[in-house]
Amino acid sequence: MGEVLEVTECSVARVSIKENTKRRIFAESAGYCARTACHLPLFPDDVNDIHFAELAHIIAASTGGPRDVDPSVMNAIERSEADNLVLLCANCHSIIDKDEKTYPAEKVLSWKRNHRNSLDAAFGTRKFETRKAARASFVKYCERNAASFRLHGPESADAAALGNSRAARWQRHVLSVIIPNNRSMLHLAEMNRELLTEHEGDTLGEFTVHVQDLEMRHLWNDWTTGGLRFPGDFAKLFEGDDDD
Ligand SMILES: [Zn+2]
Repeated sequence: MGEVLEVTECSVARVSIKENTKRRIFAESAGYCARTACHLPLFPDDVNDIHFAELAHIIAASTGGPRDVDPSVMNAIERSEADNLVLLCANCHSIIDKDEKTYPAEKVLSWKRNHRNSLDAAFGTRKFETRKAARASFVKYCERNAASFRLHGPESADAAALGNSRAARWQRHVLSVIIPNNRSMLHLAEMNRELLTEHEGDTLGEFTVHVQDLEMRHLWNDWTTGGLRFPGDFAKLFEGDDDD
């Protein structure tokens, strides 16, 4: 294995963050603070090995920390996973932990989403030569969302067992997993539109409306919008031979 990444973590951390999780968060940051109004380069000096990067927990690592929620909404292990972490500069990390009223979890998650969207737009979404290659990239997002829905969605066993915590827990997963992955799938499908069949093109249209409805409800709290469900055929996008 490679070297251990030296990085400052929240001092309240209880479950330590896995090395691979740290690597992933570093990679996803592309070297910039995720706060939209900051974007400070975190590794400014390639001569001296200093950096300003800090791994921040979006929901506190343990009870009583900043942006805490009930343990039934997020347990200690989930708090140490990539979905709940973001790379910030030392200054922004300090600001959000001192002023959680101004910087609630939803706001920090929105920075993380914007950061990922910017990187997707810049160079994250590829144009593929074949349906098979596009499928291989697409399926990772799709399976991740399907698993999240199955385990934590409104129809899961989790939901039945948790009662009142259910909605808050599902809301977390929608903000940190479902919505970012939806956006990545949308970018990928649009970028590779010429590989789609006519039926898949129609399904992409339905998926776009589904994504907008979901975001209106969960990001803007607008429940007047339609609630078009996930079109099942969208999960099969790019499936089958290139000659089909
Ligand atoms: Zn910053």
